[in-house]
Amino acid sequence: MTRDTEIFDLIRRERERQTRGIELIASENYVSDQVMEAMGSVMTNKYAEGYPGKRYYGGCEIVDISENVARERLKKLFGAEYVNVQPHSGAQANMAVFMTCLQAGDTFMGLNLSHGGHLSHGSPVNFSGLMFHAIDYSLKEETGRVDYDELETKARAERPKLIVAGASAYSREWDYARIRKVADEIGAIFMVDMAHPAGLIAAGLLNNPLQYAHIVTSTTHKTLRGPRGGIILMGKDFANPWGKTTPKGEVKMMSALIDSAVFPGTQGGPLEHVIAAKAVAFGEALTPEFKVYQQQVKKNAAVLAQAFIDKGYKIISGGTDNHSMLVDLRTKYPDLTGKVAEKALVAADITTNKNMVPFDSRSAFQTSGLRFGTPAITTRGLKEDKMGWIVELIDTVLQDPENEQTITKVRETVNAEMVKYPLYAW
Ligand SMILES: *Cc1c(COP(=O)(O)O)cnc(C)c1O
Repeated sequence: MTRDTEIFDLIRRERERQTRGIELIASENYVSDQVMEAMGSVMTNKYAEGYPGKRYYGGCEIVDISENVARERLKKLFGAEYVNVQPHSGAQANMAVFMTCLQAGDTFMGLNLSHGGHLSHGSPVNFSGLMFHAIDYSLKEETGRVDYDELETKARAERPKLIVAGASAYSREWDYARIRKVADEIGAIFMVDMAHPAGLIAAGLLNNPLQYAHIVTSTTHKTLRGPRGGIILMGKDFANPWGKTTPKGEVKMMSALIDSAVFPGTQGGPLEHVIAAKAVAFGEALTPEFKVYQQQVKKNAAVLAQAFIDKGYKIISGGTDNHSMLVDLRTKYPDLTGKVAEKALVAADITTNKNMVPFDSRSAFQTSGLRFGTPAITTRGLKEDKMGWIVELIDTVLQDPENEQTITKVRETVNAEMVKYPLYAW
């Protein structure tokens, strides 16, 4: 077949786009050459429905080893007794846990979506909100932090079967112990979705939720810097609390129920090329270099947040404990929407995303906020001394977001600097 120039030209252009700009989307990162190589490998050709040693296809001897390596490395990384590395994405990992813990119509509780929660934590347009009865807890307006009092009161009153902690736009550490306590009190399962801060947790820079939650889910492609995918973990396996038994009458363990919920419950064949790449990424995350990287991610985020504050911006909760932050534009530029700000910044090759702020006066399509994160720029090699420079550039654009001359000037400055931080050698 002749080379598919239509698609390979687009891949080249996307690579150039990723290389020339300042990537501040909090959920994005750049994988290593080795992770990329594993993803683009012959492992994609293999069907391997089932689990290592128990497959529905022949010829799985080698992918069995590779999937087991991924599992063992992941266990070591977070101190887990059980892991499942097959979920195709974070949302798929959550779906498998919900299918394990809930029946259609059951009540579960997650963080309000306009306060930083994720689509798969009960949005009415997502399976989680369509199939189950989702109730929420919120942030406190004055502090920008989780309102644990409200969480407890609501949990006691509504008795959800599952409580979900974790968020897509929340810059603070969680009080997992407090949530576990109320979950135990009402007999609920406590799940933590650590999709965003997983890399910082792996490096020991934030509390490890495996010590508190019954079940933990994550993506592998955010701070963890692996291929796009999902994972499920348990610190300790436990007997399922609903008394489901095996044909022999023994009580099933949660690990068996979660495995069945992933396959055949919600997925077909695993992506063995992605699982191989996950193994590579977990191997990288076990190195001392990864810890140094995460320390820099956290330092960069703290300095970036302070630079915004110094420039007169409001940061929700007044700072960050992790890799991300949410800027409320309304104090400095009351008339500027997140939508317009995002578009102007993207035109200047500074990539970010509009985001609702807690108690936003605007819709999810307009928004009053922007979300920023440092995982990607830290992978590029930017250190804390560059954070003030980034905020200056952002503010120059936001002062006059329709001014094309300003945008062009900022873009040229960005491109001239980012050329100094090469991405992929090939
Ligand atoms: C990103 C994210 C997910 C979803 O991950 P996908 O791989 O996009 O499905 C789930 N939960 C949280 C909290 C997230 O931030």
